[in-house]
Amino acid sequence: MKVGILGGGQLGWMTILEGRKLGFEFYVLDKEKGAPACRVADASFTPDQIKAFVNSCDVITYEFEHIDESLIDAVSDILLPSPDVLRLKKSRIEEKKFYRKMGYPTAEFSFAKAQDLSIELIKFGLPAIIKSEKLGYDGKGQYRIEDPSQVEDVLKNHPKDEKFLIEKLINFLLEFSLIGVRDKKGKTKIYPLTINYHDKGVLLYNYTGNLKLKEAEDILLSLMSDLKIVGLLAVEFFLCEDGRILINEMAPRPHNSGHYTLDGCYTSQFENLLRSITNLPLGSTDLKVPAGMINLLGVSLEDIDLDSVLSVEGTKLYWYGKEKRERRKMGHINVVASTERQLQEKISSVLNLLKKEDPRRGQMAHEVPHEGHF
Ligand code: ATP
Ligand code: MG
Repeated sequence: MKVGILGGGQLGWMTILEGRKLGFEFYVLDKEKGAPACRVADASFTPDQIKAFVNSCDVITYEFEHIDESLIDAVSDILLPSPDVLRLKKSRIEEKKFYRKMGYPTAEFSFAKAQDLSIELIKFGLPAIIKSEKLGYDGKGQYRIEDPSQVEDVLKNHPKDEKFLIEKLINFLLEFSLIGVRDKKGKTKIYPLTINYHDKGVLLYNYTGNLKLKEAEDILLSLMSDLKIVGLLAVEFFLCEDGRILINEMAPRPHNSGHYTLDGCYTSQFENLLRSITNLPLGSTDLKVPAGMINLLGVSLEDIDLDSVLSVEGTKLYWYGKEKRERRKMGHINVVASTERQLQEKISSVLNLLKKEDPRRGQMAHEVPHEGHF
């Protein structure tokens, strides 16, 4: 089986490393030849070689959403998940409108062109989060607005014709995500829920806990069916103080909060993506052991005390080999443990070794929220 991947980032890199076990060939499209997935592919192509790329593949998937329309058109016949889902994900505004139209719970929102943003924000009410309509990831293009006077500064960094999504600022109890996989016959499996902690809009670490939220699972299953997903769908949620569950956003591809599945689950999210798009039976998504992940943000390998980090039993390093940039996802550490409490302690130890402040502040490291709390 010849599998193509649009995008050469770490998600593609891990998909290929997992897919080698299945005996597949891999072809990657990315403008950078040195991108992580390009380095482990059978061959990589730049966007001007799109025809040769398509001709090399039996099926094509994607590992990021910001793909030019002309490229989507060129691959649409063999693209999974479908081009429609990918197009929906290209606009944060369209994505939110979809939730509203279909009756899915999400934060209140509005939208405006750059020149109307201040007025719309005043009408909408503050504080709010504004997010640029396109090309956002890892918290980029997002701003918390307390006062309309902040808008002028924000717009300095954006083109004049840019549109913005305006979202109510949610005072959430915690953030969590669910990842599901669906095959061509509509069969589905769901990975365990993970609780996710962000540092300034970027995922810092996450772990599996005892929390099972049926309402969120039903939302994921329903979204996968509405969108006719063949592949993965990750949904990021807020759990609000009053117990409500809101969708933050979704991603029809491998998700950062699912990296732990490489060591924590019987079948990783990457392998199940490949199984689903190539008509193989879906693998078990069950958890083998409590597991979590810590992102290595904006560091080089030399900055990390690897000897100490890897001496914490149950840790594994995944290093993507990318050029270092501030707050960029450079690699991650997976952690497994025999109990949830042990897992919490190990994650805390690794965070300490990385000298990362735990965004949970004040909360004890071992306090895993249980369903009963809500
Ligand atoms: P990523 O690529 O890391 O998933 P992103 O750039 O796509 O991020 P979002 O997921 O929309 O952006 O937001 C990043 C983080 O910012 C969220 O996980 C959450 O911590 C915070 N955030 C986003 N929207 C809101 C909101 N309406 N209220 C409160 N916090 C929010
Ligand atoms: Mg997000």
